[in-house]
Amino acid sequence: MQESVQRIRTRAPSPRYSLVLPIYNEEEVLSRLVERISALIAKLDGETEVIFVDDGSRDRSVSYLRRMVAAEPSFRLIELSRNFGHQIAITAGMEAASGEAVIVMDADLQDPPEVVLDLVAKWKDGFEIVYAKRVRREGETWFKRFTASLFYRLLERMTPVDIPRDVGDFRLVGRKALDTFRRMPEHDRFVRGMFGWMGFRQAAVPFERPARTLGETKYPFWKMMRLAIHGIISFSERPLQLALLTGLAISAFALAFGGYAIVAWILDAGVIAGWTSTVVIVSLLIGINLFMTGVIGLYVGSIHAEVKRRPLYVVERLSGFDRPMRVASR
Ligand code: UDP
Ligand code: MG
Repeated sequence: MQESVQRIRTRAPSPRYSLVLPIYNEEEVLSRLVERISALIAKLDGETEVIFVDDGSRDRSVSYLRRMVAAEPSFRLIELSRNFGHQIAITAGMEAASGEAVIVMDADLQDPPEVVLDLVAKWKDGFEIVYAKRVRREGETWFKRFTASLFYRLLERMTPVDIPRDVGDFRLVGRKALDTFRRMPEHDRFVRGMFGWMGFRQAAVPFERPARTLGETKYPFWKMMRLAIHGIISFSERPLQLALLTGLAISAFALAFGGYAIVAWILDAGVIAGWTSTVVIVSLLIGINLFMTGVIGLYVGSIHAEVKRRPLYVVERLSGFDRPMRVASR
């Protein structure tokens, strides 16, 4: 798909801005979204293309988007062949984007379109990557906030890569960062980490994140967990080191305990009646052992996914890419 979009692209002049919006069952939000996005485009100081990436929606999102794309020259649509997940959907959108600056934002209006103007202003100050930082989050349960903050603290301690706290995928990236991103073919995609990894001049724009007013979250707890695990696995080797250290510590303990048992036996201190301690120690060790194997398994699984070299996503249909931009109204 990369080639085909790129081929089309050489014929059409590139816009200044590309907006990338991942969509997964968002039919309740779309008309409101299109309104707000259109208002935003009118305020941006250059031609803007809007790339909707349908991530295998099962509701009426696709038919609505197709109609929108047919009517509005600056809209484009990538339909993925199934649900590949948020991180892959934004990857597909960014790979197809041809703007000088590319902005990724959620479709549910929790990333307010107006904030894009602030991102753009910072970009013009010379920052290659401008991320939007949540200073307040409305309508989120304490559980979500608590687990999120725990996760970011943990990740911060575990990885040498600078991954800013309270930052999702709402960000603007310039051409250089985008080209770098395209050269990162990894399957375990934790996009916010990937942008942290690449360096460049980065800046934050604070914003208050409103609650989702239309539709409901497409990130149930298990998806969140998976994202968190992918984030840790692809940006930290600390779990492997911890497995090694724990193994070492337990071995040292076992050695000392064995020594003690032998000495006690030689001195005939009558220590045989130890069924409880045996059971406790054996089950504890088996538990730790399995856990460590699981940690290693996660990494092996990640290597396995990488080695297969499957494409990251499959495009079922593209629309709107093969036409010139509308002439800017200003
Ligand atoms: N999304 C997606 N694929 C998925 C899940 C979500 O493309 O498998 C999109 C979704 O439509 C939305 C964005 O990713 O535009 C963020 O999802 P959501 O708002 O549900 O996440 P939350 O804000 O609750 O973390
Ligand atoms: Mg949301």
